[in-house]
Amino acid sequence: RWADRTVTLADLPIRDELRGSEPYGAPQLDVPVALNTNENSYPVPADVVEAIVDAVRTEAAGLNRYPDREAVALREDLARYIAHGLTVHNLWAANGSNEVLQQLLQVFGGPGRTALGFTPAYSMHPILSTGTGTAWIDGRRNADFSVDAENAAADVRKHDPDIVFLCSPNNPTGTALGLDVVEAVLAESRGMVVVDEAYAEFARPGTPSALTLLGASPRLVVTRTMSKAFALAGARLGYLAADPAVIDAVRLVRLPYHLSALTQAAARAALAHADALLATVEAIKQQRDRIVDELAARGLDVVPSDANFVLFGGPTENGGLGDQKAVWRRVLDRGVLIRDVGLPGYLRVTAGTPAETDAFLVALDAALDQKG
Ligand code: PMP
Repeated sequence: RWADRTVTLADLPIRDELRGSEPYGAPQLDVPVALNTNENSYPVPADVVEAIVDAVRTEAAGLNRYPDREAVALREDLARYIAHGLTVHNLWAANGSNEVLQQLLQVFGGPGRTALGFTPAYSMHPILSTGTGTAWIDGRRNADFSVDAENAAADVRKHDPDIVFLCSPNNPTGTALGLDVVEAVLAESRGMVVVDEAYAEFARPGTPSALTLLGASPRLVVTRTMSKAFALAGARLGYLAADPAVIDAVRLVRLPYHLSALTQAAARAALAHADALLATVEAIKQQRDRIVDELAARGLDVVPSDANFVLFGGPTENGGLGDQKAVWRRVLDRGVLIRDVGLPGYLRVTAGTPAETDAFLVALDAALDQKG
């Protein structure tokens, strides 16, 4: 009865603003080298696996009961990790920072409200905005993908958004923001300013976190995740740091018991082994810097990166990559999955293990040789 489906999405009474939009869809392919979603390539170390399994086992018999709705113990552990004088009252956690961002949009955005971000940035910011009925506005980036305080403030003045998304280090460009940008946007806006710091742990020395500005304004929110540096993308644990009033606000929209007891236990076990999990960060940064150097040596435009990925290519008139879709395909044909983020002439590659960098460079060289 479902074999020859004639009904499509377009036939259903979905909301008008969702018509014609695409779901988030980074390809999930079974390939030897997956460098397309900025995961941490290193598996969870054996002793941390043991700690997580023990913690989850302890929870299992109690799964007949709902978990702690406020995830207090986990938020205490997150406060200890994040430091900066923050306590459990400043921290909030959810299933990935995507859910945190969605909760922020549910409470501070919504129908009749707007969110502004500096495109290209994290593709989920506009998707989550649309999903919550929040109208999306594209702010401007400079040609080198930087954002300066003056332009950012001018965009905020012009559009008067209810929420501003700043992403630092920015996905997909790797660009970190100066705190002057955050301060200028806060000063100019009347709404919430969300700094998405999913990649903060990979920043180069001297790159500041907006955590240092918390306390200056209750409208400032910093979001983070255990998906990247902590190598825990599969566990789904993201969090925010903000004024305690912001946590009271997101409580208005969160689902009851949104964080399962298993997630809370696994995340706490992982945080107890933060040093072991974060031990891969330096090695990943080395591969990031190696990729930057190698691609620059090939005459490609490379965007300086404070994250665990590199955006490269450059405008086609300067040589560049040419048709990034064709290059992406040829690299994939050699078993290496990288990311076409939809920026003409550019591709993004995640920094993983040294062997993965080797495989990527071999595949890219072959793909570029084949071009002409
Ligand atoms: N923010 C940014 C900038 C990201 O790149 C990602 C993951 N790609 C996320 C947030 C969401 O990550 P998660 O939901 O796994 O915490």
